[in-house]
Amino acid sequence: MSPTPTPLSNSALANQSPGNAASGAGPRLTVTRPGTGEPLGSYPIATAEDVAAAVERARGAADWWAGLTFAQRGKRLDAFRGILARRFAQISKLVSEETGKPVADAAIEVATILDHIAWAARHARSVLGPRRTRSTLMSFHLSGSIEYRPLGVVGVIGPWNFPVMTPLGSIVFALAAGNAVVFKPSELTPGVGLWLGRYMAEAVPEAPVLQVLTGDGTTGDALARADIDKIAFTGSTATAKKVMAAAAERLTPMVAECGGKDAFVVDYDADLDAAAEAAAWTALSNAGQTCVGTERIYVHESVSEAFGAKLAAIVGGLRAGADDAAPIGPMTMAGQVDVVEGHLRGAVDAGARVLAGRVGAPEGQVVQPSILTGVADDAPANTEETFGPTANLMGFSEVGPLLARINATGYGLGGTVYGRARAAQIARGMRTGMVSINAALGFAMLPSVPFGGVGKSGFGRIHGPDGLREFAYAHSTVRRRLPPVLDPTTFARTAKQDELLATVVNLLHGGA
Ligand code: NDP
Repeated sequence: MSPTPTPLSNSALANQSPGNAASGAGPRLTVTRPGTGEPLGSYPIATAEDVAAAVERARGAADWWAGLTFAQRGKRLDAFRGILARRFAQISKLVSEETGKPVADAAIEVATILDHIAWAARHARSVLGPRRTRSTLMSFHLSGSIEYRPLGVVGVIGPWNFPVMTPLGSIVFALAAGNAVVFKPSELTPGVGLWLGRYMAEAVPEAPVLQVLTGDGTTGDALARADIDKIAFTGSTATAKKVMAAAAERLTPMVAECGGKDAFVVDYDADLDAAAEAAAWTALSNAGQTCVGTERIYVHESVSEAFGAKLAAIVGGLRAGADDAAPIGPMTMAGQVDVVEGHLRGAVDAGARVLAGRVGAPEGQVVQPSILTGVADDAPANTEETFGPTANLMGFSEVGPLLARINATGYGLGGTVYGRARAAQIARGMRTGMVSINAALGFAMLPSVPFGGVGKSGFGRIHGPDGLREFAYAHSTVRRRLPPVLDPTTFARTAKQDELLATVVNLLHGGA
């Protein structure tokens, strides 16, 4: 029978700092609950020395971890998954406290990542393990094999908006590939980061395969400059550029999971009720602080009135608040309120109309949800990441110009299409890493597909087979299995063999 989890308060985490690789001697972070300002705890800010010491410990752990079989690693990752599942309510509550999102919303991200952990543990061997490759006529005497080996130590820098799902998308895949990880959570969600470290240590007691360093941007910067083998960054495009510059000093490769300006298309033959529900949820849940959240909605002009009415009815019934009953929580980061308000005010001042919800007069970090219409394509509200509980509704008639507008921002993270006949065509035309058809955020739910963006949304992938290979390097071995009929790689070639080579080249490739 599973043990009953004991309650673990946020302040207990802060005071004991279990698993915190920060030394704790210097300045500290103070964390408060968004919306209420209730103090939640204070945490050490890890220094560059703390980071270096953690990376050194991680090296030892990485050697041991890489020496295990895929099955042995998978068993331990499954144990971690079991702990997360049994402590589901506890971690969901902690996420809610630090981010301000409703507990039920926090539970969705925890539930979703469990599926990804199971997938990574189960598929690491088939994706990364040794396999034979095919020979060609020219190389018939050779047999090849390839395997994907762990890189060593991976640094993970995470955001606050999905503090379980987002960092674990890198951490678990890096671990499944045989690496050790040093993780720097956002300064807004250090308690969640420590919680993950504490229970990974329970699942893998033998060595510190996951160490957590609480801290701020300086800690992240130190991690990006440390002697690590890869940095997995999730956060804003602006910070990604700084991390990339820091990592360049050691030629450390990077995965960059950055922001987006995702579009949601409602075509003429869409199920309008389902589309309105999905548009409202993807735009407004988590107070709009979702990297793959909908920020622009394009509806075919033949159904725009009907769709707008349905969307307005749903949004009209929503409310943001800091109380437990509010379906939308306060914004997590106080500074982001100004960005959201700036975009909304700029659009309304330029003539945009509020179709639903309320714009203006935020109460502290509580911003009411809204849908605007008539926002110009080149307004900041349509070109920059807003990251708040709002979206712009716009019409379209032809697919070609629609795709040009969708692809014009330079971001390319996710997108959604509701429709039938042309849904696949529209999806294929979006220059994004992911598109979901007739489903809300399907690409985040399905563990077998990679997750990541193009352009200003970053590069590299987490989740799925690509997410495993991201944290490994290809190691090829080629063995001579037969005497070669024609061996061009020797000084002992004869003129006759050179002539034969020319003939073979012509035969094999001349007709191409
Ligand atoms: P930030 O870019 O502000 O921060 C991300 C992380 O980087 C935090 O841990 C932060 O630390 C750290 N950091 C800050 N400065 C530096 C630095 N100079 N060097 C190294 N690390 C640094 O992003 P947010 O936390 O505000 O997250 C929101 C953003 O993340 C949005 O743009 C969102 O779209 C994106 N995002 C992308 C996802 C994806 O998968 N593509 C998923 C989730 C979010 P600290 O917080 O302590 O300052």
